[in-house]
Amino acid sequence: MPVPRVACGPVAPDVTRVPAAPAPPPVPQLKYEIVTRALWGAEPLKDNHDPMNGITKITLHHTAELPGMTTRSDLELVKGVQNFHRNERGWADIGYHWLIGRDGNVYEGRALEVQGAHAGGGNNKNNLGISVVGDFTKELPDRKQLGTVELFLAVQLRRYDIPVDELYGHRDWKPTECPGGALYEWLAAFKKRQAARAS
Ligand SMILES: [Zn+2]
Repeated sequence: MPVPRVACGPVAPDVTRVPAAPAPPPVPQLKYEIVTRALWGAEPLKDNHDPMNGITKITLHHTAELPGMTTRSDLELVKGVQNFHRNERGWADIGYHWLIGRDGNVYEGRALEVQGAHAGGGNNKNNLGISVVGDFTKELPDRKQLGTVELFLAVQLRRYDIPVDELYGHRDWKPTECPGGALYEWLAAFKKRQAARAS
């Protein structure tokens, strides 16, 4: 009698019964590009500046509404901020050391060896100024831009070995809306996360 053929070996999975994979978790921002002063066409530093002599604190700002905000690129906006600070206000250079664009990139501002002009008078001593391009009074930056803010701040804290309670919003120094209510709230939560990580 012929032996009935029996299927052997691994059984092919019935793909129709495989449940759909859950959506992957959001990917955090893991890198950003640095846009150098040469790339955005910065004008040179003028003589009326003080040396930084080390960085021991960080202050976060927003640029608030800028002329041409909806039509101009980050590069043009950063150049506009420098023009306003340097040529209209008469400062040595753009006031901030870094700006974080809506494109998620980081724009090089005033040299790190030079004291900034962003927190008011003596508050600028040893104070790294970082400004986020946009108005964050009511809304946060979009996910890409905020991802860079988070990563860049964490990197700076580590780079200069700055304790998280030396990270400020502009309004901690003087009465101002800056860095916007929404971003200031986010900053408080970021500081809590950093403190939890450090402990
Ligand atoms: Zn500010």
